[in-house]
Amino acid sequence: MPDDLIQRLRRFRDQTFPGVQDTFEHLVKDGQHPTILFIGCSDSRLVPYMLTGTGPGDLFLVRNVGAFVPPHDGSAGYHGTAAAIEFAVLNLHVARIIVCGHSHCGGIRALYEGVPAQATNLAAWLELGREAVLPVQLSPEALRRTEQRAVVLQLERLMGYPMVREQVEAGQLTLHGWHYVIEDGEVHVFDVRSGGFVAASQSEHSGTGPYLRFDEAPTDDVPGSSGRGP
Ligand SMILES: [Zn+2]
Repeated sequence: MPDDLIQRLRRFRDQTFPGVQDTFEHLVKDGQHPTILFIGCSDSRLVPYMLTGTGPGDLFLVRNVGAFVPPHDGSAGYHGTAAAIEFAVLNLHVARIIVCGHSHCGGIRALYEGVPAQATNLAAWLELGREAVLPVQLSPEALRRTEQRAVVLQLERLMGYPMVREQVEAGQLTLHGWHYVIEDGEVHVFDVRSGGFVAASQSEHSGTGPYLRFDEAPTDDVPGSSGRGP
């Protein structure tokens, strides 16, 4: 099997890097100052830089199966996602945290269909989405709704992190819940006032978590939204 990866690495160094060398040198000299923590599913079809039009130094990224946030339960284990949240908030002082799920999510689907018996870590991890599961047969609509419910569930868990809660309540940090529909190229953002997801093409804002201070929330009705009112 030809090793095409070594060719790609050489191509990056020789062809791509010269065009961005100044940017990276600047980021090394001055350090990184990303303003966004992006918690996304590991799915290969979710490409955060493309979605947000960002590049080097812009996103502090953590990805896992399902875009889940573990509870802040004080257990201090090998919690990679929890560690990334603490680092982003306490060291990098990010202004936004985005939780981004997506359509056709294998992690969410596995909540209905199960995982291989050997996948003991995966089975335990997926329980972080269990509360989002609906008591219905799996269907495309049920999967979509569960994916969105899972995003909101993670936003609520984020508020269980003391440093997140403190900075959200101080107005220094906002939470965004996104659901990316791969085949449409459209992100649907969670709107706290309507309690539903609104297509970014119709939304007036990029979405806020369920605990944005009310006096900072937009006052106009959100077009295209559905679900309960404020
Ligand atoms: Zn996924």
